Amino acid sequence: MPTKVLLAEPRGFCAGVEMAIKALTWMVQIFEPPVYCYHEIVHNAAVVDAFELAGVVFVEDIADVPEGRPIMLSAHGSAPDVVTAADARAAVLVDAVCPLVTKVHHEVRRMADKGFEIIYVGHEGHDEAVGAVAEAPDSVTLVDPGSGLDVFRPDPAAPVALLAQTTLGMYEWSGILDEASDRYPDLWTARRSDLCYATTNRQTAVGILSERSDLILVVGSENSSNTQALVRVARKAGVVAHRVDGPDSIDPEWLRDVGVVGVTAGASAPDRRVQEVIEAIAPTEGVELVRVTEEDEYFPLPPRLRRFAQVLQALVEGGFACRTPGRAGPLDADREFGATGALETLGV
Ligand code: SF4
Repeated sequence: MPTKVLLAEPRGFCAGVEMAIKALTWMVQIFEPPVYCYHEIVHNAAVVDAFELAGVVFVEDIADVPEGRPIMLSAHGSAPDVVTAADARAAVLVDAVCPLVTKVHHEVRRMADKGFEIIYVGHEGHDEAVGAVAEAPDSVTLVDPGSGLDVFRPDPAAPVALLAQTTLGMYEWSGILDEASDRYPDLWTARRSDLCYATTNRQTAVGILSERSDLILVVGSENSSNTQALVRVARKAGVVAHRVDGPDSIDPEWLRDVGVVGVTAGASAPDRRVQEVIEAIAPTEGVELVRVTEEDEYFPLPPRLRRFAQVLQALVEGGFACRTPGRAGPLDADREFGATGALETLGV
């Protein structure tokens, strides 16, 4: 019977996910449905289901979008040919890529232009890895973090760069960084690695929870890379850890003989799901917050969306008949308005 829940802080929504969810909420408030979104806006089933109910159609191929509809591109970053195709087809195209993913795209292009052979450490088929590799496919070798560098066979005369998916496990990154540094003494890599602040903060927090917990539950969807990384980090620390979508995923057997349960959430998991999971655990001695750091990162809405909403607002105020923007939150005070509030307007 669980006595206590240790609740990780930070957990859940990162700044990139906040921005993407608010941006798509604006899209469904501004445009008549359907609004199209290339790939899941973020990798969370509850968020995706809510947007589908609000009139968003998620597609895996831009060719599936009828000409002249509004399109949003997901937070994971899209390949250049996808952006071009979407721009040609959309009435309005808004790219909700996270700025920290864009930074890695820039690195891929810059190092490829300089003649580097690039190791990109990431998960094959993941949307973020697909988009980044597509920036310079002839110069990039995708290396799975668990497989080592043997698949990388560069031209011996070429300099080598090491880049990564933003959501890798920190221990996976350090292992491959050591291996690459040994093999290529002049290796180029980003000064602070490509793992984003949200990834490192959430993994640091789950590491601390692991020292005090009998069991760790990570709230998030199966296709969420950073959620899966949190589970791996906890297991590597020697704790039994499970990913759960919500309270219904909890097997009562897991809770039978444990005292302290650590709870955290991947960067795309709504906090409401976390609270439901805690209610299902029902710890007899309550919840203790374990805070490792404060996060105050904020990414503004995509510029094209901001401009479009401002023009619409001006038209409405000028007496022109058109759909009123603004129900997704106050545009001028976007920083104070969170994705949780935006999702509430959709009923999540
Ligand atoms: Fe951006 Fe990191 Fe969040 Fe991904 S996990 S959307 S890179 S802040």
